Amino acid sequence: MRGIVAAASSAHGRQKPTLQKSGSISVRGADKILIPADNHLHTKLCGHAAGEIDEYLDRAAALGIREVGFADHFPLYFLPPDKMIPDYAMDESKLPAYVNMVKENAAVSPINVKLGIEADFVPGHEEELERLLAPYQFDFITGSVHFIDGWGFDNSAELEGYSSRNIDGIYERYFFLLQQAALTGLFDIMAHPDLVKKFNFRPACDLRPLYEETARAFKRAGVCVEVNTAGLRYPAKEVYPGPELLEVFHRHGLPVTIGSDAHRPEDVGFGLIEAVKLIRNIGYREIATFSGRKIKYIKI
Ligand code: ZN
Ligand code: FE
Ligand code: FE
Ligand code: ZN
Repeated sequence: MRGIVAAASSAHGRQKPTLQKSGSISVRGADKILIPADNHLHTKLCGHAAGEIDEYLDRAAALGIREVGFADHFPLYFLPPDKMIPDYAMDESKLPAYVNMVKENAAVSPINVKLGIEADFVPGHEEELERLLAPYQFDFITGSVHFIDGWGFDNSAELEGYSSRNIDGIYERYFFLLQQAALTGLFDIMAHPDLVKKFNFRPACDLRPLYEETARAFKRAGVCVEVNTAGLRYPAKEVYPGPELLEVFHRHGLPVTIGSDAHRPEDVGFGLIEAVKLIRNIGYREIATFSGRKIKYIKI
């Protein structure tokens, strides 16, 4: 299967992209870029995504993407049964079906399909999460902070939370939780690491000390960071993390992966050419993917 080669607006006269015999894709130069992987896909089992899993895979194949990772929302294990948020994540009873669905499709797909999961971090519930993850052989576990002290700050239904809080304080708390999440050791990848900017509420404070502190914690934890293009679809109009934070991650030697966070087949691969360009501009020459919780690298 040949990869799709997308034309970019400017040519820098570097070497053209090559498809290597190993099956890994090399991207050389800003003139033509291939999408090496999409490591963050959802499925309709989470209750707020559309389409069948084979439609996601067909879309990936059409784009020439060689490897995809499903990372659907892990059940909201930290909420009592009567406080469950409907359509926010898959029900606990659906987890085995999710695992089987991804594995069955992986077995027949021409694409390399990885079984991941996107699990929320909520302090105080680490042991429960570890216990619930243990029975499954995930290729990777992506850690997300979607809740700040019970507030679903990235949920448009809870937008009013921004008016009753101090924006600088929200950012500080968000990055603190993200560091804590990484340091649990439960996660391979930290998802959308500045998701707090989603609705474009921007802080007045200088974020650089928080960025440095977060990068140091990530390095100590040995996690990979995700460049997630969903931010381009929201008021932030920027990938998560933005270039300044990604530069800090690069300087601290953190590996990076990419994901579209697609919740419908047509969003598979969304913005990932731009993401690869950004990642290369920052100085990365490879992206990471995972098999059996072990990191491997694809040249970009
Ligand atoms: Zn979702
Ligand atoms: Fe997320
Ligand atoms: Fe997601
Ligand atoms: Zn996500």
